[in-house]
Amino acid sequence: MSEAVAGVLSSLDKIVFDSETIQRRVAEIAAEIVRDYEGQELDVVALMDGALFFVVDLLRSVPLPVRVHTVSVRSYHGGTSSTGTVQLLQRMPAGLEGRTVLLIDDILDTGLTLATVQDQLITACQPATLRTAVLLRKQRPREREPQVEYVGFDIPDEFVVGYGMDYQGHYRNLPCIGVLSESAI
Ligand code: 5GP
Ligand code: MG
Repeated sequence: MSEAVAGVLSSLDKIVFDSETIQRRVAEIAAEIVRDYEGQELDVVALMDGALFFVVDLLRSVPLPVRVHTVSVRSYHGGTSSTGTVQLLQRMPAGLEGRTVLLIDDILDTGLTLATVQDQLITACQPATLRTAVLLRKQRPREREPQVEYVGFDIPDEFVVGYGMDYQGHYRNLPCIGVLSESAI
């Protein structure tokens, strides 16, 4: 292991899911999606930046006709808990009317992000169908409870980083998911 990698990993208190476990589960979700959408064309809406790594790995294992759209949203503003307001940094993608849409995010926490984006997608884009996939779902009471059809893992209510998830812009490129140590925050 290089010193740089060891340095980053030493910022973690514990590893929650290692890379192999994540990849195995992502492949299972991909298989579910392929089965559910067989014979259909999909429009994927990926929430940036957190879902970046999940969506790329997932879609590599989904051999269906897929168009990929991204929407940038912000709710944490660099901290370790939601600000309670969701900022959509751009408009919803065009051309989703009557389409089969799959919304993808990294993690379901307070529920505000996904509920807000789902509301927007339904009213502004009028897709034929809308389903949602998340890699992680925190077990906690939520402010909104958006409908989510595909869930990778349920986790305790802890702030995690890695595999797309950041703390102040860092740690997204960790292949595993872990909990940051107090000293790294
Ligand atoms: P929600 O709106 O459900 O509270 O939060 C959703 C967004 O907050 C996610 O898309 C993700 O970007 C961010 N988020 C929520 N929990 C965590 C976490 O434990 N770690 C990181 N890095 N981001 C999180
Ligand atoms: Mg996010």
